[in-house]
Amino acid sequence: MVRAQPVRFVNGGPVWFQVKPLQRLESLSGTWLGHDISFSFDAKSKTWFALAGVSLETAPGTYALELTGETVAGKVSGEKLSFSRKFTVARGKYPKIEVKLSVEGKFTEPNPEQQKQIEEGQQVKKDYLNRVTLEREWSGTGTAPADAAISAVFGSQRIFNGKTSSPHLGLDLRVSSGTPVAAMNDGTVVLARPMYFEGNFVVLDHGEGLLTLYLHLSEFKVKEGDQVKRGQVIGLSGGTGRATGPHLHVAVRWQGTYLDPASLLRLRLP
Ligand SMILES: [Zn+2]
Repeated sequence: MVRAQPVRFVNGGPVWFQVKPLQRLESLSGTWLGHDISFSFDAKSKTWFALAGVSLETAPGTYALELTGETVAGKVSGEKLSFSRKFTVARGKYPKIEVKLSVEGKFTEPNPEQQKQIEEGQQVKKDYLNRVTLEREWSGTGTAPADAAISAVFGSQRIFNGKTSSPHLGLDLRVSSGTPVAAMNDGTVVLARPMYFEGNFVVLDHGEGLLTLYLHLSEFKVKEGDQVKRGQVIGLSGGTGRATGPHLHVAVRWQGTYLDPASLLRLRLP
């Protein structure tokens, strides 16, 4: 039996698969939208589960979760079982309100020295933001990084100095400078350094391909390599990097794909 959260899948949304096989399995793995997924077993509920997602670019349609389980050694040892289940992805309703933001020219028309810093930053992000650490550190439903109102939702279309930019790939929270920023779940600090666009930037790796990103901080409270607990203060909010003013931009990545942080916080996870 395969179940999932949320009831309705949308592009840009995280999903939570739960599989309760009819027989005991040694392992369970799967593929979903071109991603390899490994499932964890919860002995109490006899359920295998995995966190996954649907990229913003995924077209509405029906997609199959292909599963392969290995049976527990016994009468038929090491037998492989395959099954699949289809899920429908609907188009997420993301606002198309055009917000005219004015940022400094160095962000829209960088000079050669600034261009070099931007390229260095792109390399750092390529090196760190697509990693998939198999071991799971996160557990349970995440914690909001700050108790604050949302000022910009995920997926909205933005315009910088009259030029249409990429969709907003995170969630903006309205906080003043110096507000403590909490880790959304347990994890390891993979980045805690200043970057050109992101400003003071913290990235946490929660395992199983899940990363959370915290941008524009005024101060770091962790360093790269630190282990953090859910709710632990990792920095103070600010307006560093490409920001029109102090706010907290948080983002969620799963296996290299940006997902809606607000939807992730709504999933009820064990
Ligand atoms: Zn933002």
